[in-house]
Amino acid sequence: MQPNLIVKKSGIAGQGVFTTVNFKAGQLITALIGRRMSMEEMIKTVDAGLEAGSDPLQIGDETYLDLEELYRSINHSCDPNSYISGENKLKALKAIKPGEEITFDYSTTMNDNEAKLLESDSILWTCKCKCGAKNCRKIIDQFKTLPQCRQKFYLDNKLAPDFILKKFG
Ligand SMILES: [Zn+2]
Repeated sequence: MQPNLIVKKSGIAGQGVFTTVNFKAGQLITALIGRRMSMEEMIKTVDAGLEAGSDPLQIGDETYLDLEELYRSINHSCDPNSYISGENKLKALKAIKPGEEITFDYSTTMNDNEAKLLESDSILWTCKCKCGAKNCRKIIDQFKTLPQCRQKFYLDNKLAPDFILKKFG
């Protein structure tokens, strides 16, 4: 249970996760919890329509978390107020006040093994973005597709999970 977080209708998309307390920049909000699964398992689950492409959280080159309901309800934003640190820790990127929706940039956790996806006849998940941020990129896509300055911002400030920092940093 996460007493500080509630799920309700979001202005961004569907349901979102909102905080009932203050968070300081850098403060841990929560760990994102889910069952670990291999890339093969992730592909099977998504291709079978059991999950949306946005549901599994990538935490390693070929490792994903099958996120529990609360955590998969956290929306993407191109101008997020939180980020993923380490493997699956969600931390505040800036001060967040009670009532604010918690968001992170999904692209900071996306570096799918394309060759393996193609082998399995699967496709790379992307999504149109309507997050409403001034700097909205209009699409949620792999980390490598982010503008160079945005990649640099996330990498230099360590605002991405370890496997991304290792690969691109
Ligand atoms: Zn956006």
